[in-house]
Amino acid sequence: MSSGTLIETLSGTLTGQPYAYQSVELVEPDWTRFPGWSEVTAEQWSDAQWQRAHCVKNVRQLRELFGDLVAEEFYADLERDQAERATMSMLVPPQMLNTMMAQETPRGPGSLTEALYADPVRRYMLPVFSDRRTDWPSHPHATRDSLHEHDMWVAEGLTHRYPTKVLAELLPTCPQYCGHCTRMDLVGNSTPVIDKLKFELKPVDRLDQQMTYLRSHPQVRDVVVSGGDVANLPWARLEDYLTRLLEIDNIRDIRLATKALMGLPQHWLQDDVVAGMARVAQIAQERGVSLAIHTHINHANSITPAVAKAARTMMEIGVRDVRNQGVLLNSVNADPDSLLDLCFRLLDGAGIMPYYFYMCDMIPFSEHWRVSVADAQQLQHHIMGYLPGFATPRIVCDVPYVGKRWVHQLADYDTELGISYWTKNYRTSIEADDPEALTRTYEYYDPIHSLPESGQRWWSQHAGVDLSEAEARAKASRIVSEQQKLLV
Ligand code: SF4
Repeated sequence: MSSGTLIETLSGTLTGQPYAYQSVELVEPDWTRFPGWSEVTAEQWSDAQWQRAHCVKNVRQLRELFGDLVAEEFYADLERDQAERATMSMLVPPQMLNTMMAQETPRGPGSLTEALYADPVRRYMLPVFSDRRTDWPSHPHATRDSLHEHDMWVAEGLTHRYPTKVLAELLPTCPQYCGHCTRMDLVGNSTPVIDKLKFELKPVDRLDQQMTYLRSHPQVRDVVVSGGDVANLPWARLEDYLTRLLEIDNIRDIRLATKALMGLPQHWLQDDVVAGMARVAQIAQERGVSLAIHTHINHANSITPAVAKAARTMMEIGVRDVRNQGVLLNSVNADPDSLLDLCFRLLDGAGIMPYYFYMCDMIPFSEHWRVSVADAQQLQHHIMGYLPGFATPRIVCDVPYVGKRWVHQLADYDTELGISYWTKNYRTSIEADDPEALTRTYEYYDPIHSLPESGQRWWSQHAGVDLSEAEARAKASRIVSEQQKLLV
């Protein structure tokens, strides 16, 4: 047993609690442990351009980095996934790669293979074929644009789903590509499996059209400025967009979405970006607008001193808050200890507010990552009471055509077929004339492998997805429960 494990065990025993909190000092793992970076200096490492230029984009580059420390079997597994399953192309910045296998000491050929397979960051940034399920790699209801954001575009890239807030996708690229990306329909390069949707307008026209919509819709007060990742927009263009947003009286909240705060913190620490953000934050403060950064960190191992420095720098120059929206992923973080470790590392180490964990959306080939609503409810239960209330994240299900719903908010749940039913209290932009939008129930589907045998059998027989039987059962169960209530 390592001394770390011993301390954890003792600590758990002493507190008698299911989770034993420990304050942990952040560490930047030593990148020179990998053959491909043995000569890289601290100056190069802290340079955003060096990081971008040395992202791993293919198996050959990964092999150059790890060499024979990782067995050929792994590279072949990765190559097969890229060819047959991956919905996102490979793009991993050195900063993120360096947080994989941080505790391991390379000891010779093949010595890192097992650790790389098991690594939680690798599991979602470099998915391999053998990670995926073979029984149900995709749910029969999985779709490319599972949240129907494109359907709700009111201008190119501008999704108006909730009454007072919009999502502005400024660009379709990121400095890193996550295997489970919800926006896999639009974001990133095409893969052998997925031909990506392309924006049609020139960037300048797209941003202008979005601005025109926002100016003419005073009910919108909150803009999530996203992509892709805003860290890939040339700074001058992002500053211009934000400055124009701040001139619109009805805009009171601006949230910048950037996973790069963790994946490429060097970007947010560049002099021109820090100075530019300070100018924007100053204007926001003068106008009483809340300017925040929303980042996306899924595992405690990703939080290093460089990430903490980027987050704290943003808050020092006037950004009101940095919040985390992680994704709940099997084999990465979907257990109470991993979620709590991550939340405490965010809060204590980097001053980042744990905010949401989204259930992984129903995109193709995501079944091995997804958890059931029942499991998500259990996880929410297990993380309550340890963190301050204001920093206890909600686990949410992003229900197609509905939006984010806390996992305990469902209206009905057929646990045998794994179909949950949800309601909503507003219309999206495509339902202005829909008389049933507020009374209809909307479905979300658990991964089939998580169902009891009878449910799995039902799906095997109905994989052609005729849901009439499931819907009839759900209606029947609602009628029965209503009758039971009346009898009581
Ligand atoms: S950073 Fe966000 S938008 Fe970009 S690939 Fe990852 S999940 Fe998708």
